[in-house]
Amino acid sequence: MAIEDVLSDLKKKIEEKVPDGTTITSVEFEGPQLVVYTENPKNFADNGHIVRNLAKTLRTRIVVRPDPKVLVPPEDAIEKIKDTVPKDSILTNFHFDPDVGEVVIEAEKPGLVIGKHGETLRDITKKIGWTPKVVRTPPIKSRTVNNIREFMRTNHKDRKEILKTVGRNIHRECTSKDKWVRVTSLGGCKEVGRSCFLLSTPESKVMIDCGVNVGSDDNMTPYLYLPEVQPLNQIDAVVLTHAHLDHQGLVPLLYKYGYEGPIYCTSPTRDMMVLLQLDYIDVAAKDGKRIPYESSNVRDGLKHTIALGFEEVTDIAPDIKLTFHNAGHIIGSAISHFHIGDGLHNVVITGDYKYGPTRLFDPAVNKFPRVETVITESTYGASSAIQPSLKEAEKNLQQIVKRTIANNGIVLIPAFAVGRSQEVMIVLEDAIRKGIIDDIPVYLDGMIWEATAIHATYPEYLNNNLRKLIFQKGQNPFLAECFKPVDSHDLRKKIINDPHPCVILATSGMMNAGPVMEYFKAFAPDPNNTLVFVGYQADGTLGRRIQKGWKEIPLSSKNGAEVVQMNMDVQVVDGFSGHSDRKQLMDFIKKMKPQPERVFTEHGDERSCIDLASSLHKKYRLETRALTNLETVRLV
Ligand SMILES: [Zn+2]
Ligand SMILES: [Zn+2]
Repeated sequence: MAIEDVLSDLKKKIEEKVPDGTTITSVEFEGPQLVVYTENPKNFADNGHIVRNLAKTLRTRIVVRPDPKVLVPPEDAIEKIKDTVPKDSILTNFHFDPDVGEVVIEAEKPGLVIGKHGETLRDITKKIGWTPKVVRTPPIKSRTVNNIREFMRTNHKDRKEILKTVGRNIHRECTSKDKWVRVTSLGGCKEVGRSCFLLSTPESKVMIDCGVNVGSDDNMTPYLYLPEVQPLNQIDAVVLTHAHLDHQGLVPLLYKYGYEGPIYCTSPTRDMMVLLQLDYIDVAAKDGKRIPYESSNVRDGLKHTIALGFEEVTDIAPDIKLTFHNAGHIIGSAISHFHIGDGLHNVVITGDYKYGPTRLFDPAVNKFPRVETVITESTYGASSAIQPSLKEAEKNLQQIVKRTIANNGIVLIPAFAVGRSQEVMIVLEDAIRKGIIDDIPVYLDGMIWEATAIHATYPEYLNNNLRKLIFQKGQNPFLAECFKPVDSHDLRKKIINDPHPCVILATSGMMNAGPVMEYFKAFAPDPNNTLVFVGYQADGTLGRRIQKGWKEIPLSSKNGAEVVQMNMDVQVVDGFSGHSDRKQLMDFIKKMKPQPERVFTEHGDERSCIDLASSLHKKYRLETRALTNLETVRLV
């Protein structure tokens, strides 16, 4: 059936189901959802169940929008919104988008604007005609979040066209009689970096992740030139598990070379992705390196991004439904579940995950309606890779900080901007609040503060404990007074030239660049100071050399080469990882419901991937295999 006929058919079915006196002006696909335009949005708002029932019978997500004729002028609408919501929702901004009949309401307490079961929102709709959409006022101003919201507003016309094309593409008719499912490894197998898979059926192609291997100049990109990947514009969708560069660093390259389709990821992944891509370009330029895309390609990607929440079943191709589940690795990280053909096959691609609680996130989800094939990460898949518990790690870190402060020293922690930094921040804040360590400043340098602002914008992606602190107790730990963002060169100079006991968290995590180097040069010679590693240090990085015990560190600087005397105490605190350790990887599969038929391993060095695959086979009698780059496996 042609798409126009599909739409007019849907329109008829909807008209049969709505109350009398409801005029449906038109229906249109927009991304994965079906938009219904009506002159009587009140009728829908009055009966919350109509949309739910329609979605159920038509088996698609439905959004109702007012026909432009019925919209109340924005100035009046603002007054009406203010009259409807409780006073303490604290409204901070409004944006009206006449093209989609939507008003975005920024509120400090979005829950109050939404009301119980969406009651207040429906009230608003009835009074103003516009469809209200509520977003949280960021408690810490994030330049990234602001810029992205602004970008989406100014590009709404383009976006509308893009979403229409995507929607029509998803709902095209299936034509093939064959039934098969294949997965091709394009990168990230028996290695860490450049993660990329292609999931294909006779109808569609979906790419999962498109990472860069930042540690390698020769094998930096996934094998994107393979015949099954080209031409790029035949790919239906790109799905991103999370925002680390080894999973999304080359997405802009796809747009540079002809991909025109959507990116599906969670909202925090989208925002973090843009932040990290732009920073990647920036850092490369400063190092005199060139990366294969420009910031305009980053913007192209953003324009094509469709944000999905956890547990939302979404059509992304005619025969593939995607559902994201919490992965517990970094903010917005998702395990992707693909339901293929009408029950033909179910594949779970884990991305990076933590099957255990952390200060920030709940453990990764391993319960699915159905699953036959699992592709799992294996970073700590080797049988020797057991990590100490988070409790031990926290205690260890607290002791080190206490000791250093007692010596009047400074604690320097090299950290990645996203993930471990926030985990360590929460641990320090907790210890300071409880008086376990003295009330000292914790300086945050590099992109850490900006990444923290993104965390604070999306508390719904944090674990229960943190959410309770933030919402019920009004105690957002990220806003604690001990945290001092280093937002100027002057402040950095002051910390270095007039040192007092403090903790400094600074990027980069492996000490190959970034502000951490300035602190290191200044504080390395004094044995009262401590350098604490909380993350993995790859071979070849300065971090690894220091761990090996180098005492004279040659560094290049503006004035030529210099040698830094390394007298600082060096401590390694394991256990803060956002990855599952060996036991958690095994348990994740063992306790998975339902049990999968086969498990493939990836994202780990060769030994880890093979070790995990063989242990899973021996212990749980599953068909397993460590995937190799460039191979295609038939699943059905
Ligand atoms: Zn990761
Ligand atoms: Zn990774």
